Amino acid sequence: MPLLPKNSEPERLEALHRLGILNTNTSEYFDAITRLVMDLYGVSGAYISLLDSDRQWLKSSVGLCPPNTQRDQTFCNYTIQQASVLVIEDALLDERFASNPMVSGPQGVRFYAGAPLITAEGYAVGAVCIIDQQPRTLNVGEQDKLTRLASLVMSHITLGRVVGHVDAVSGLPNKYQMFEDLSAYAQASAGEYRVLAGIDMPDAAKAFEIIRVLGAGVYDALVREVGARLLRLFEGRAQVYHLTDARFAILSRDGDTDGFIRYLHALEPELQAPLTSLNIPMALTSFGGIVVFDLCADAAQDAPRKAAAAINQSALNQQRWSCYSNAEDEKQKRAFRLLNDVRHAIAHDHFELVYQPKHELNNGACLAAEALLRWNHAELGPVSPAEFIPLIEKTALIGPLSHWVIRTAIRQIGAWHAAGHAIKVAINLSAYNFEEPDIVARLAATCREFEVDPRYVEIECTEGIWMEAPGILDALHAIRDLGMSLALDDFGTGYSNFAYLQKVPASVVKVDQSLIRNVHANPRDQRIVRSLIALARELDYQVVAEGVETEQSLGLIRSWGCDLAQGYHFARPLSAPAFIAHAVAHRDRHPGIAELAL
Ligand code: C2E
Ligand code: MG
Ligand code: MG
Repeated sequence: MPLLPKNSEPERLEALHRLGILNTNTSEYFDAITRLVMDLYGVSGAYISLLDSDRQWLKSSVGLCPPNTQRDQTFCNYTIQQASVLVIEDALLDERFASNPMVSGPQGVRFYAGAPLITAEGYAVGAVCIIDQQPRTLNVGEQDKLTRLASLVMSHITLGRVVGHVDAVSGLPNKYQMFEDLSAYAQASAGEYRVLAGIDMPDAAKAFEIIRVLGAGVYDALVREVGARLLRLFEGRAQVYHLTDARFAILSRDGDTDGFIRYLHALEPELQAPLTSLNIPMALTSFGGIVVFDLCADAAQDAPRKAAAAINQSALNQQRWSCYSNAEDEKQKRAFRLLNDVRHAIAHDHFELVYQPKHELNNGACLAAEALLRWNHAELGPVSPAEFIPLIEKTALIGPLSHWVIRTAIRQIGAWHAAGHAIKVAINLSAYNFEEPDIVARLAATCREFEVDPRYVEIECTEGIWMEAPGILDALHAIRDLGMSLALDDFGTGYSNFAYLQKVPASVVKVDQSLIRNVHANPRDQRIVRSLIALARELDYQVVAEGVETEQSLGLIRSWGCDLAQGYHFARPLSAPAFIAHAVAHRDRHPGIAELAL
């Protein structure tokens, strides 16, 4: 005699919901079974029902069948209370059903038989049923067949569940399972706190390298071993999920969040230990993100996103774990927002160029400017290029933005020249711009369009390893060949591979403002700046100092032979009309030097 199904209704419902079959689309497999059942028994209808808390939902039905209806009006509500087939030979003679609308109504159902769908844990979640408009019997053999069909249906439901909820490489529950678990826990233990830790192991860069060098098969073996290690480390304490590729998540079991975080940090030696599934033992770098959250309706949405943001933070800081920080999250969201809004801002004139005067140090004249970008964001207000340029220049969006800058600056030069002001303007470009195949043609065409002599255009770029990429040097030479000059921005802060810089056709270096700002007070900066200027002059560069804020700094750099300077001491970046007023005022003070020596 089969055991009765387990009768705890909350657990039965949990088992049903875990199957993830409720409200899913029709499926040819289940429809083929209901058709087969109807033919096999020669009845007027067959269906597969699932019984939710208060309703019956049909996964498949053929012929005469009940509507999706209230659970207490169904035959199946009785079927799920027993382990064997429920047979109602004549419903009119059964007081439980005689007044049921299916029986007394126009459908006139007289016969019902249903075999319960029982999960592996022993919960009856629904039934495979046949109905007829005639009273009839069902012998033991026929009942047995119906039971076997029900177990086929159950296996298929479970299989569908496993396929969709387990990672194919590691065999661990996947992200869909995690979302469902988070939702289920949010219902069962609302308000309690848990920890969700995400971990990339190996980190993305290492993963890429392993696949490239050792192949995908080895990589899968490695990821499997990581999964197994995490499973062992967290057994009894947390559920481990395999989310994507090499990203895992660990969800703590109870409310002791501090204890769990202490445990995570204490795992350092185990996480660092080399993996052994390869011939060569390999220690993997990993980045992890931790979020403490309360089990609420939004938990399934929110906690994984926050854990991912914290992983990102660890990767940026190159550290094992980071705790989710709201401020950091806001920063990332703002960055995302800015990137999203660039195109719209270009199209709607929310960008603007301002011009910072550059002064010649031998005579004080102002015949040149650096064009600097300003973003007046419609909702966020003014946003500094120091914030948005580093974000945008990592993406292809720097292309269209720089095109706007190039056009606007060169058009301005043309307008100034037409008005009799021979001003030279420096334009900042990012590394990506020099990879654009049409950058040189674009610069040339824009000069032609606005009738600007390219010698009045300077291109500023920061020196860096990017310069050694193929094709870059050619682009830089082609820009020089147009007649434009090339300046190395932020000089003295970074890369400075002098051997390589000799190959770059720059004629100007701009000593970085971080070195200039305190040069009047800091003897170390004085030694560095003096040597940089001497070296640059030795190599025949024109030297520009940026960030000159005081008279003393100006005196020092002038005495060391610096050619030009810009900074708040002279002027802040100015609107185009304000710049020209500034330039004219200085020209009038030095009437003999109205022309730029090109
Ligand atoms: P940068 O090219 O080195 O520009 C110099 C920065 O120093 C400007 O900041 C300028 O306003 C600021 N500055 C000038 N004089 C002084 C001073 O005396 N004291 C101090 N503390 N600062 C001074 P800004 O305008 O915020 O631009 C920041 C950076 O953003 C620029 O550094 C440049 O790398 C980038 N940028 C600006 N406009 C563009 C652009 O059109 N395209 C690209 N690709 N990058 C741009
Ligand atoms: Mg610059
Ligand atoms: Mg600079």
